[in-house]
Amino acid sequence: MSYIDIVPIGKIEEATLITLKHNLFQAFKIQTRIRNRPIDLSAAYDPFRGQYNSSGLLVQLINDLTPETMKILGVTEVDLFIPIFTFLFGEAQLNGPGALVSAHRLHNPFYGIPENEEMFEKRLLKESIHELGHTFGLIHCFTLRCVMNTSTYVEEIDQKSADFCRSCEQEILRWRNEHLTD
Ligand SMILES: [Zn+2]
Ligand SMILES: [Zn+2]
Repeated sequence: MSYIDIVPIGKIEEATLITLKHNLFQAFKIQTRIRNRPIDLSAAYDPFRGQYNSSGLLVQLINDLTPETMKILGVTEVDLFIPIFTFLFGEAQLNGPGALVSAHRLHNPFYGIPENEEMFEKRLLKESIHELGHTFGLIHCFTLRCVMNTSTYVEEIDQKSADFCRSCEQEILRWRNEHLTD
């Protein structure tokens, strides 16, 4: 059995993870599981930026994959950066095992408006599918509604759907046919 492992990094609501686990299974038709394992957040912290180095966390995430791990998604509430960007919603290895998403800027209160749980969960799902999509070899898509369309602002996440466009869907199917024998 191969899984998409969902790994919480730092404190994150259990209910959020369970919803995500369910929805990612629906999206990819691949078994998902929540796997707790120690990740050293402090090693990725940049005191000057007050943010966490995304690539550093991604390296920790992929350094002990289980034989059943097909893909691994880290989910965190901390704010991520890489040196060339002020912030990131997530990062992933193209065609590799690892992906990472940050919920930090997906909550309405970050923008000074009241929380909307449903909206938050949709945003987290879209960004999780998007980053995992990269691990299945998908690059950014120009179809506006496609989940692989790139998002710089949270409004752009809200405008796209949680679905792959037809051509991205084909790529996922092709990947499945090549890698899944059952
Ligand atoms: Zn992307
Ligand atoms: Zn697409």
